[in-house]
Amino acid sequence: MFAKVPRYKNKSYRQYVASKACFSCGIEGYSQCAHANGGGMGTKRSDLETFPLCASRPGHIGCHTMHDLCIDMTKHQRRELEATYIMRMQDVARSEGRPEFKEAA
Ligand SMILES: [Zn+2]
Repeated sequence: MFAKVPRYKNKSYRQYVASKACFSCGIEGYSQCAHANGGGMGTKRSDLETFPLCASRPGHIGCHTMHDLCIDMTKHQRRELEATYIMRMQDVARSEGRPEFKEAA
C-alpha cells in the first residue's frame, strides 16, 4: 500500500540530520531524525523538514519521545518549535554545503 502523494524521501539527509546534536537538550550521540508532526496522524512530511532530537535510552526519556507525545508543551508550541528547528537544520545544511540545499549561483 502506498500513499497517493509520495513524500520526499532522502536517506542520506536523514542520516546527516541524525548525526547532529539534539536540538532540544544538546546531547550528542543519541540523535534521531525527527519529522514535524504537523498535518495530523500518519501524515509525515518531507525528509527535508526534519531535525535532530535524542532517542530514549535506559533511564531517560529522549526529546524525540517527549516531542512526539507533546509532553510539557501545547500542540501550538510544538508547531512553532518544529518550524524553528526545521529552519535551524536547513541553515546548518546550507552552510555545510549539503547538495539538497545548493543554491543556483
Ligand atoms: Zn535531547
